[in-house]
Amino acid sequence: MPHTLTGFSYIAGQWHQGSDTRFYGFSPAQNEPLNQAYYDITLDLVDAACSAAQQAFVAYRQTSMQARSEFLHAIADEIDALGEQLLDTTHQETNLPMARLQGEKGRTMNQLRAFADALAHDLAPLNLHCEDAADPARQPLPKPHTQLKHLPVGPVAVFGASNFPYAFSTLGGDTAAALAAGCPVVMKSHRAHPGTSELMTQAIDKAIMRCNMPAGVFSMLQGVNYDIAHRLVAAQQIKAVGFTGSMGVAKALMTTIQSREEVIPFYGELGSINPQVVLPNALQSKPQLAQQLCASMLMGNGQFCTSPGLWLIPHDGADEFLHQVQQSISAAPSDTLLTPGILRSFVQAIDSLTQCTATNLVAKGEKSRDFHANAHVFSCDAQQFLDTPLLHEEVFGPSALIVRYRDMTQLLSIINALEGQLTASIHGFNEQSDIDQSVFEVLSYKVGRLIKEQMPTGVEVCQSMNHGGPFPSSTDVRSTSVGIEAMRRFMRPLCVQS
Ligand code: NAP
Repeated sequence: MPHTLTGFSYIAGQWHQGSDTRFYGFSPAQNEPLNQAYYDITLDLVDAACSAAQQAFVAYRQTSMQARSEFLHAIADEIDALGEQLLDTTHQETNLPMARLQGEKGRTMNQLRAFADALAHDLAPLNLHCEDAADPARQPLPKPHTQLKHLPVGPVAVFGASNFPYAFSTLGGDTAAALAAGCPVVMKSHRAHPGTSELMTQAIDKAIMRCNMPAGVFSMLQGVNYDIAHRLVAAQQIKAVGFTGSMGVAKALMTTIQSREEVIPFYGELGSINPQVVLPNALQSKPQLAQQLCASMLMGNGQFCTSPGLWLIPHDGADEFLHQVQQSISAAPSDTLLTPGILRSFVQAIDSLTQCTATNLVAKGEKSRDFHANAHVFSCDAQQFLDTPLLHEEVFGPSALIVRYRDMTQLLSIINALEGQLTASIHGFNEQSDIDQSVFEVLSYKVGRLIKEQMPTGVEVCQSMNHGGPFPSSTDVRSTSVGIEAMRRFMRPLCVQS
C-alpha cells in the first residue's frame, strides 16, 4: 500500500502540521511546483523536538550496542520496504536518474548496516579501548589506574543536503553515525526533497516501534523559514550539528552557535573544487584522461561535492587533451539542477567566468531547455589563476576550469595557493620522481583524500575513508562524514581514574 504524504513534521512519534504556512516541493523536470503541500513547523514545536530528544537521550544512551545494531538494521529494512514509491517521489523532486537513485539508496542502507555491524562487534574496528595499569609503588607518587571511555555527546541536529537526498539527508551518514554513537537526532529536512524526507521518516518511525526505542530518538522538521534552523542550533539540548551545504548558510548557523552560552561543535561540509593535477607524462600515457575528467565532472550534472572543478595541465603538449575536452563537452546534453536557487547561482557563476578577462571558453554544451544547466569548461594561465580570486571559487553545476602551468615550479605555486579541498587526484604519477613526490607532499596538506590515477567522484563507504578536509572544504579538518569513523564526531572522551 502506498504511503500517504501529510506534509507534516514528525516529533517524538507524532506527526504535527505546525503552522498554516505552506510550501511546496519542486519538480526540476517540469520547472514548476509539485502539488503536495508541506507546512512550516512552529518554533514551539522545534523546542518540543529538542526536549524530547534530551529525554530520549537518557534511555537511548543506555541501550546495548546489540540493541542499537538491531535498530539500524531495522531502519535499513524499512527503507527497503518503501520500494518504488520512495524512488518515484525522489525522482520527481530531484530529477536525478532512477539508476543513480537506486545506487544511492543501496549505499545508504549499506551505510546503516556498516554502523550496525561495527556495533555488533562492540565497536572493535574503532579501537576505542585504552587503559593504563596502576602502579602503587611508583616513586615519588603512585600511578593511578586510568581507563579511557567514549560517551555519546547528546542530541544532535542534522541538516539534510540537497544533492544526496538519501546518502547525506534524512537517514544519511550523519544521522546513522549519531544514532550509532547513542545520540538522538533532530533532523531539518531540505526543501529540495520534503516528500523523500517524509517517507524516510515513516521508515524510521516503524523501526522505532519495532525495536521499542524511545520516541524522541528521532524527529524530523519541515519548513522553509530560516528561523527554524537557527532555533534548532540554538537549543540548549543540542550538543553537535552536522551540515552539508553552502559556506553562506554554514556561516549564518555558526554565528548563531557562537552566540549560545554553551558553544558546540559544528561539522559543516562545504565547497570544494577538487583539483586534478595532470603531470606531463599523463598527456601521453593516459589517452582517455580528458574524456574521463569530463565524465566525472558531468556526474549528477556537476552537483557532486567531489566534482573535479579545477584541472591543472601542462602548457605544452596539451593540444590533443584540449581537443578531446571540446568534443566531450560540446556533445554533453544539458540537464536540470536540483533547485531554482542552485540554477540561479550556476547561471551567475557562468556569467562571471564568461565576463572575466582572465578566462577563455574552451567548450560548452548545448542548452536544450531554458531552465537547464549546460556544461562549460574555461581555461586560464597559471599567473592569471594566482591573481584572480574568482577563479578559486566552486561552481556548483557542470563547469570546470583548466589552468595551464609552464613548469613544475609554477605547478607547486598553484598548489600552494589553493584553499583546503575535500579531495584531489594526481594523474601520471611516477613514484621514482622526486618532483612528483614533492607535488604529492604539498597537495597532501591541502586535501582530506588524495587520489592517484583515479577520478574523485564516488566516495567508498569503508573504515579507511576520509570525507572532509581543511577549511573551507569542511569546518573540522579532523573529522570525516563518511565511513564508520564518522561516529567519533558524535562521541566524547571520558577518563575514569581509580
Ligand atoms: P545551502 O545554500 O547551504 O542552503 C541550505 C538550506 O538552507 C536551504 O534550504 C536554504 O533555503 C537555507 N538557508 C538559506 N539561507 C539561510 C540562513 N541564513 N539561515 C538558515 N538557513 C538558510 O545549500 P543548497 O541550497 O542545497 O545548495 C546551494 C549551494 O550549497 C550550492 O551551490 C553549493 O555551493 C553548496 N553545496 C555544497 C555541497 C557539498 O557537498 N559540499 C552540497 C550541497 C550544496 P533557501 O533554499 O530558501 O535559500
